[in-house]
Amino acid sequence: NTFAEVDLGEALNQNIRRCKYVKPTPVQRHAIPISLGGRDLMACAQTGSGKTAAFCFPIISGIMRGQAPQRPVRGARTVYPLALILSPTRELSMQIHDEAKKFAYQTGVKVVVAYGGAPINQQLRELERGVDILVATPGRLVDLLERARVSLQMIRYLALDEADRMLDMGFEPQIRKIVEQMDMPPAGVRQTMLFSATFPKEIQRLASDFLASYIFLAV
Ligand code: AMP
Repeated sequence: NTFAEVDLGEALNQNIRRCKYVKPTPVQRHAIPISLGGRDLMACAQTGSGKTAAFCFPIISGIMRGQAPQRPVRGARTVYPLALILSPTRELSMQIHDEAKKFAYQTGVKVVVAYGGAPINQQLRELERGVDILVATPGRLVDLLERARVSLQMIRYLALDEADRMLDMGFEPQIRKIVEQMDMPPAGVRQTMLFSATFPKEIQRLASDFLASYIFLAV
């Protein structure tokens, strides 16, 4: 019933202690072992449940222990993140970015955020300095893909946060366009985590389209 019991790696465990997280929340206690075990996950979790850590820890841990993959050199300006976290709003993506950076401190894993409603140039400069985990809102990410500044060919981890809110905001076409660009077949290398507070039919449909034989978690 502690974070040290699951094998997240020493650097990450140290950051968890720095954040003063002692005991995993229920969603963390269940979701983290499932994701570390390589399974896709659809989780019912509310704001405040600790879901950010639930999807960030397995991603950071997985990137830390994975071999650094050869990234293709397309244009020098195209970057190839290994993980993508999609979130509905600028505020939420900024929060996720802040937390993920604390969790990734001194792990060598680089986190960058890109959201709409703000000038793109600063975000482009950040991306050019390298990115392992990209936190993004769907509209801004589509823009970056169309400019060929981001490629999703190397994505090994995909997390969709507050999926119901993203659909309510009309982002389904953008989300589908984004996921289509991930070359890895769902049953293959890509691991997907879908978080939503509610589970209407539309979310169930996203899950069956994007996830490979997944575990359903309701806490
Ligand atoms: P979230 O649901 O991810 O937005 O997290 C809600 C708040 O709980 C954030 O301020 C987190 O930093 C905090 N938090 C998440 N997990 C833990 C934990 N295991 N122990 C203590 N605080 C936590």
